[in-house]
Amino acid sequence: MSIEKILIANRGEIALRIHRAAHEMGIKTVAVHSTADADAMHVRLADEAICIGPPAARDSYLNIPNIISAAEISGADAIHPGYGFLSENAQFAEIVEAHGIIFIGPKPEHIRTMGDKVEAKRSAGALGLPLVPGSDGAISDVAEAKKIADAIGYPVIIKAASGGGGRGMKIVQTPDELETQMQQAGTEAKAAFGDATVYLEKYLGNPRHIEFQIFGDGKGNAIHLGERDCSLQRRHQKVLEEAPSPVISAAERDRMGGIVAKAMADMGYRGAGTIEFLYEDGGFYFIEMNTRLQVEHPVTEMITGVDLVREQIRIAEGRPLSVAQEDLVFSGHAIECRINAEDPQTFAPSPGTVTRYHVPGGMHVRVDSGLYQGYRVPPYYDSMIGKLIVYGRTREGAIMRLKRALEEYVIEGMKTTIPLHQALLRDPEFQDGAYTIKWLEEWLARDTQDQ
Ligand code: ADP
Repeated sequence: MSIEKILIANRGEIALRIHRAAHEMGIKTVAVHSTADADAMHVRLADEAICIGPPAARDSYLNIPNIISAAEISGADAIHPGYGFLSENAQFAEIVEAHGIIFIGPKPEHIRTMGDKVEAKRSAGALGLPLVPGSDGAISDVAEAKKIADAIGYPVIIKAASGGGGRGMKIVQTPDELETQMQQAGTEAKAAFGDATVYLEKYLGNPRHIEFQIFGDGKGNAIHLGERDCSLQRRHQKVLEEAPSPVISAAERDRMGGIVAKAMADMGYRGAGTIEFLYEDGGFYFIEMNTRLQVEHPVTEMITGVDLVREQIRIAEGRPLSVAQEDLVFSGHAIECRINAEDPQTFAPSPGTVTRYHVPGGMHVRVDSGLYQGYRVPPYYDSMIGKLIVYGRTREGAIMRLKRALEEYVIEGMKTTIPLHQALLRDPEFQDGAYTIKWLEEWLARDTQDQ
């Protein structure tokens, strides 16, 4: 069935990204927005726009009845949830489908399974993915937890089954800390996610974060589009991502990608997904699966030439995958910088009005952003205001191009993280690609000391 009109249940750069893919396919778009986003670029570009509530996300971008009503009023035949907000809400996907509207995303049962990290780990294990050693499912008994921790060795990490955004995790160094940390983790998980369920796994000392992009057609076929290295994180939030990873060989990519794609095919997975691993001493350890498009998807697009949003829409229409695994060619290197409206030193949010704006251009430079001169960045949402993505034939070439593009990028009227990226790119350790998930925070601490 071909889709004629897509309602975009999101805001900011990702709403614009979806609008662009849709229009290139000749599909009309409906923007939904809060009162704070009436002037947003995606609202201005969409064929239709419907206000769905006041600024607070729970009243607008998370307001399921209003979004469904907007789809019905506008006659949209599909909804794309973007990332964040309702994108991994299985109930939302079910409600959309119950209204006879196509959900551009995975089957609701797969969203549900992967949204529960204990269930996700169990499924991943059953599908043959390598796991971080730990408890077999949820754990509540302290004696049992001690036994497992002794067997796998300290330190261990206690994680919330419903956790997300790097929250609800406790690192336990010694056996005598285990009981209190378990209790605390449970209490915090209950408060943050309404679910006290926790599980335990080995705490890896210094891994990289490497994730595989996959696509399934929902009918038993799946492909992988290689990996992204997202090890550069601050407080478990990704700052800069690249593809391919500087430490993964083509043979390793083929081997691991093959395992991941087979798992997704066996599962009958539909649409875009990301399988996240920690990678240490040559071993991959599954941590979670995201059943949606990722912020960092453009780096994969740059090195494969596949438009991932277009692919999502095609699959939602019931069409086959547009590319076979053997025809997929990985070429060159891509890097993405997340540009946030934040103080680059303190990371305090810095929303404001864009007084001057100039985007970089030139060969292999891409800017995904809803910013324009005169636009007021609302204070209610995520502080990411854009993404700068560059491509180079080599990693070195991509770094040089990125430096040049960052020099050209002018955003005035607020503080941004552009200077942070510039400093990062000058660092010889970054240039060597020898970083792990701890590196950026150590680097930031060092950098502050130097001043
Ligand atoms: P969330 O859903 O909250 O993002 P993840 O399971 O993806 O949780 O973990 C987030 C981050 O926490 C990882 O990228 C990594 O930095 C750290 N982490 C999680 N599990 C472990 C582990 N077993 N050992 C070391 N670090 C971990």
